[in-house]
Amino acid sequence: MLSPRLLQIAMMVERNKVVFDVGSDHALLPCFLVENGICQKVYAGEIAEGPFSKVKEAIQKNELEGSVIPVFSDGLAKAADDVDIVVIAGMGYHTIRHILEQCDVSRYQYFLVQANNNIELLRRYLSEHYYTIEDEKVVYDGFYYQIIRFSADLHDPYTEKEIRYGPVLLKRRDEAFLAYLEDLRNKLIAINQQAHKEEYALTVKEIEEILYN
Ligand code: SAM
Repeated sequence: MLSPRLLQIAMMVERNKVVFDVGSDHALLPCFLVENGICQKVYAGEIAEGPFSKVKEAIQKNELEGSVIPVFSDGLAKAADDVDIVVIAGMGYHTIRHILEQCDVSRYQYFLVQANNNIELLRRYLSEHYYTIEDEKVVYDGFYYQIIRFSADLHDPYTEKEIRYGPVLLKRRDEAFLAYLEDLRNKLIAINQQAHKEEYALTVKEIEEILYN
């Protein structure tokens, strides 16, 4: 069974598309997408020998040869021409940025990215490249994770507030997003009780404006 985080990513994959999962590790997501009839073909990319062996083992164990295809590759360097959707999940911002910088983003229909840190820097990067943030979800899986769907379609740069909290999240105000904001607010208040910092107080005020207006 997939974790809530990977399940949320799977739910954001359109049916019958060809997916390339960058940094697939155990190939959990590619196997799930094929076994549940969401995709007929998924590439499971890996850069490291150990995880790449696990990818091949998972394909064999689940008898998914020909449907889940292992690719030993740094990011999308060896991606085939038929890929529609790219998933880059469970990595830090700098690794994700490296992968995006090495590829032609406009070649793909959309990307699903989930950074384990620096989500604000990731949005700023997307904004600076005039990419379009098409969808965003927050999911709780021990931590609050954010998953961003973006494409190379041109978009005006996002505002500072949109970069900090997410343009789609701000508009939709999903339950998970509001719970994440409450959690963030409470953590900032707790930190601020020990080390009084103007910027924390301002951020708490900004979060409360989003939550209660
Ligand atoms: N994507 C899975 C998930 O979200 O659960 C696995 C995440 S795992 C923590 C990160 C994986 O990305 C590792 O197996 C690592 O070898 C791989 N990786 C890191 N940088 C990569 C790159 N530039 N290209 C391909 N794979 C990469």
